[in-house]
Amino acid sequence: NYHVVLAENRKLYNEVQDLKGNIRVYCRIRPFLPGQNQNHSTIEFAGEDGELIVSNPLKQGKDSRKLFKFNKVFGQAASQEEVFRDTQPLIRSVLDGYNVCIFAYGQTGAGKTYTMSGPSLSSKSDWGVNYRALHDLFHISHSRRNSIMYEIGVQMVEIYNEQQIKYCFLDLHTLGIWNTTQPNGLAVPDASMHSVNSMTDVLELMNIGMTNRATSATALNERSSRSHSVLSIHVRGTDLKTNTLFRGCLHLVDLAGSERVDRSEATGDRLKEAQHINKSLSALGDVIFALAQKSSHVPYRNSKLTQLLQSSLGGQAKTLMFVQLNPDVASYSGTISTLKFAERVSGVELGAARSNKEGKDVRELMEQVSFLKDAITRKD
Ligand code: ADP
Ligand code: MG
Repeated sequence: NYHVVLAENRKLYNEVQDLKGNIRVYCRIRPFLPGQNQNHSTIEFAGEDGELIVSNPLKQGKDSRKLFKFNKVFGQAASQEEVFRDTQPLIRSVLDGYNVCIFAYGQTGAGKTYTMSGPSLSSKSDWGVNYRALHDLFHISHSRRNSIMYEIGVQMVEIYNEQQIKYCFLDLHTLGIWNTTQPNGLAVPDASMHSVNSMTDVLELMNIGMTNRATSATALNERSSRSHSVLSIHVRGTDLKTNTLFRGCLHLVDLAGSERVDRSEATGDRLKEAQHINKSLSALGDVIFALAQKSSHVPYRNSKLTQLLQSSLGGQAKTLMFVQLNPDVASYSGTISTLKFAERVSGVELGAARSNKEGKDVRELMEQVSFLKDAITRKD
């Protein structure tokens, strides 16, 4: 049966992709906020299998309709729990010694912080990927306690204007500092890493970290859209049978807003900031693209962010990018440039949408071809 074979091939294809350490790209569409006109949605179709069709609802004709393909699309109704469910396997692999990077990319207001941290700490159902990840890592490490002893440490770093790096937990003394001479997967001092044993520790630490990031709430909001925030979770495991030590780390990166600042409007500091953001986001795109292309030169040194994450990007490391979209028509051009970035990092170009059957078959064939190519290369 053709469909069964195709489904199996897909599964295998995905596994091969995973083995290669390739990037996975998930799209998440934010719901409309009160006051936004729901009739002006740019999302024409969001399919379970990862297809997304966007268009400008204020333009006549559908020539501008564009198709994109993701590993997964989360529609406006997707819950934090659903999003986490598809992220969990990647996160758990950290306990087996893998390095994992998870990014949230998109314009300011598109839901990056909602996905990574959630709208509030008070209700567990609101928790974003970061708290859920820690909760899950504690849970699994506890269940393995008879065979592996795990230690978990966290670190929070903010990169602003390419140069300034702020260690958000630096002047904390309430929790133990993680002492180690081994490389920690992030090129910052271990002194800023704190051991955590429970969610209580984590919540305490995060609250202080958030306060340390900025002095006032408005300053935090203003600045958080212009800085990259990196929460790193480090895991050290000791296999109790063999007494061998291994490490894994998970970096959760809430990127600076990807909106392009109009050159004519921005001046001085604001312009400089915008240039730094553009530079570092394109440097990140270049690195991921080079890795996807198996390029011999990966340009890690072009930005602070990629320098920091160098040892956790590429090689055996796994990468996931959340591409966040605001469905409002006012964000249309930003949505398109976000999707272009996503297309580039996933290493696939699909071009304009063909919603007819033929278009779909061509894509399926393309997938089959690349699946077979991959299978052949892996056999060599
Ligand atoms: P960003 O970090 O990309 O600037 P935010 O995460 O702050 O964007 O989201 C902007 C606003 O939209 C916030 O008020 C947030 O609570 C809301 N929001 C974002 N995503 C969702 C979602 N999936 N469900 C409900 N509200 C959301
Ligand atoms: Mg944010």
